[in-house]
Amino acid sequence: MPGTNLTREEARTRADLLHVDAYDIELDLSSAREGGTFRSTTVVRFTATTPGADTFIDLVAPSVEEITLNGAPLDPGSFTDSRIPLPNLAAENELRVVANCAYTNTGEGLHRFVDPVDGETYLYTQFEVPDARRVFASFEQPDLKAAFAFTVTAPTGWVVVSNSPTPAPVGEGSAQVWTFEPTGRISSYITALIAGPYVGVFDTYENGAQKVPLGVYCRPSLREFLDAEDVFAVTKQGFDYFQEKFDFPYPFAKYDQLFVPEFNAGAMENAGAVTLRDQYVFRSKVTDAAYEARAATILHELAHMWFGDLVTMEWWNDLWLNESFATFAEAVCQAEAPGSKWPHSWTTFANQMKTWAYRQDQLPSTHPIMADINDLEDVQVNFDGITYAKGASVLKQLVAYVGQDAFFQGVQAYFKRHAWGNTRLSDLLGALEEASGRDLRTWSKAWLETAGINVLRPSIVLNTDGEIESFAVLQEAPALPAGAKGEAVLRPHRIAIGLYELADGALVRTDRIELDVDGPRTEVPELVGRHRPAVVLLNDDDLSYAKIRLDEDSMTVVTEHLGGFTESLPRALCWASAWDMTRDGELAARDYLALALAGIGRESDIGVVQSVQRQVRLALDAYTDPDWREQGLARWAAAAEEYLRAAEPGSDHQLAWARTLASVARTDGQLGLLSGLLDGTAEIKGLAVDTELRWSLLIRLCATGRADEAAVTAELARDNTAAGQEHAATCRAARPTAGAKAEAWAAVVESDTLTNYVQEATIAGFQQSDQRELLAPYAAKYFAAVKDIWETRSHEISQQIIGGLYPSLQVTQATVDATDAWLAEAEPAPALRRQVVEARAGIERALKAQAVDRAAGAR
Ligand SMILES: [Zn+2]
Repeated sequence: MPGTNLTREEARTRADLLHVDAYDIELDLSSAREGGTFRSTTVVRFTATTPGADTFIDLVAPSVEEITLNGAPLDPGSFTDSRIPLPNLAAENELRVVANCAYTNTGEGLHRFVDPVDGETYLYTQFEVPDARRVFASFEQPDLKAAFAFTVTAPTGWVVVSNSPTPAPVGEGSAQVWTFEPTGRISSYITALIAGPYVGVFDTYENGAQKVPLGVYCRPSLREFLDAEDVFAVTKQGFDYFQEKFDFPYPFAKYDQLFVPEFNAGAMENAGAVTLRDQYVFRSKVTDAAYEARAATILHELAHMWFGDLVTMEWWNDLWLNESFATFAEAVCQAEAPGSKWPHSWTTFANQMKTWAYRQDQLPSTHPIMADINDLEDVQVNFDGITYAKGASVLKQLVAYVGQDAFFQGVQAYFKRHAWGNTRLSDLLGALEEASGRDLRTWSKAWLETAGINVLRPSIVLNTDGEIESFAVLQEAPALPAGAKGEAVLRPHRIAIGLYELADGALVRTDRIELDVDGPRTEVPELVGRHRPAVVLLNDDDLSYAKIRLDEDSMTVVTEHLGGFTESLPRALCWASAWDMTRDGELAARDYLALALAGIGRESDIGVVQSVQRQVRLALDAYTDPDWREQGLARWAAAAEEYLRAAEPGSDHQLAWARTLASVARTDGQLGLLSGLLDGTAEIKGLAVDTELRWSLLIRLCATGRADEAAVTAELARDNTAAGQEHAATCRAARPTAGAKAEAWAAVVESDTLTNYVQEATIAGFQQSDQRELLAPYAAKYFAAVKDIWETRSHEISQQIIGGLYPSLQVTQATVDATDAWLAEAEPAPALRRQVVEARAGIERALKAQAVDRAAGAR
């Protein structure tokens, strides 16, 4: 698809040639209730530096009716391969394109959704990376900024929201017209349109004379669950914090946040019109970790209003900087903003972002943070753990390296200098160098242009009195997987070392030393002559990005007293270290289970508890000796039931254990408890068996053959919502019969009618770790189908299938061999190859970890 796959070279050539002034875009959405296509009329005014030159504009549409360039009609038949050629440009140009564009059900372009509760139609756009061109003719690259003016015809009575404030609609009859003011100069990927009978709640952010109108929207069927006050409270904290730290007032006219259905990502930073997945409107009880995640997302998108929207990357190779900055900003704001409910955000950052980054950075597809993005297909598979999480970790390290005050001074200069423009990494680094006086070239080369994770280990020698005779931090180069891009290097690390003592079972920090680590061995003279503490924790406060290993004595104390750290961050660091030792085969999966069982009862941070629960499950499913796996699962299920029964009634921990039990229950007693909770014959004091928990229980009962279609239909009658329909799809695909598997497979692979969310739910039901034998025949079917899927489905849909249906549960050499045979024979495109190679790496890692676990069982 060369037409849709714009290359960096093409974008550069086009940016050199054009300056785009303005778009006038007329969309006729009066047909939205019927679906199909809609009329899109675009008028673009732009200048060309070389009159007489040719270029093209992007459009993904079923048909084009009219093309007029500078008053002269062009043949609509010239529209091929998602491009319209524009020959013989004048110095000043006006282009008019009339096209029929298509509504989608994949979450890309203009997504159309019908709510089963009210039968109403809801639309929203999602344009990143290159999908504005599915709605209007567009020079689809971030550095061709322009003013965008939308005029929208939509059914009377609808709510229509875009980047500019919503005007009063005019006209009578079944449709009305909304004429929006032009935006400031922004990139096409952050323009937006949300339309339908959404409901809104309003407030104002006030700061001195500044007044910014705020809106929060969702579908009426979710209105009763929308806690807009909480959303506004976090938003206002973000406005206060970012305006002060960035020393730049919020740049847009208003700030709307819209919770929209079937959204593929967490949220999207459309200028002044942020869209968020509507699972963030909580229909049932969730833990505090979910509120924290929502707040983080709100702050992330708000930070993008400056970093990304006001100042925008020139090309997608700096996507990492865009995402890393917003990810860092969300965490630092939560940690520091007055009134923040989540001042422990760096614990969550260590627990989630770092874990994601470390995992991604050990895949064969790992790459330097500064990735080569040659075309749009490259960037679409690059929304990964390097781009978001490693980048943000390294940014946190950069802040430790230059100091936070200097960091924000540099950022302030950067916003003032480049407002409404486009930049490269060097523009930010230059501003930071000026503010901090530090040369960042060496730093940038070591951290941004190389791949992999360094390992830091303490080397402690004691004298006969038990005092420290020498103390050094040893650094190892990353162990890069075969075929990975980039160089394995040692890096400069700014780290803290925490010293902890045991007192009445509590691990309390008694001292902290901050230093620069460089090269393979860094001596720490400050610690010589001192008494050896109970635990020495490298990278305390999590300033740097590295795998941390404990010395043997510290490991012994931590294994026994992990729950004893009085602060949540060192606990999270030790949990993370144990997990990555498990993944690396340095700790047997059954030993990780033992460590988790010993420590999790004292873990108060609910986000950490839920991560450990997920990791234990993954360890049991993938990293244990298959001959021992059932024993491990039985122990875990028994522990889940005990913790559930012992948890404080109504607490987050109680809910987290209920969900864990619902995912792993296996004995008659446990499954009977699930049935009893569902039909009301059993009760756990304080546990609300609400809509979402009911579905979790039912999914497990279906997967174990204890609930049938009648039970699913009955549950759907209680909850006939979009979410209910998705859960029902999971239930049906989870049933332990060959027929159910075949049906699910056919729905996803042999048909292309499922929406993005129903497809995802079906895949989740299909893959059941207790059903490996039933699923075995689908490995061969996968390899027979995957290339065709990639070539015929949209990006989001094919990505779900390629990753989701890979035979990950068949942890055998045969799966590795089948993958290799396919890779050799199919000659997949790079982006497809990358996804399959990543899945294959999961099998290889699991095979190694299983061998380690088997050996541990024999000892
Ligand atoms: Zn982002």
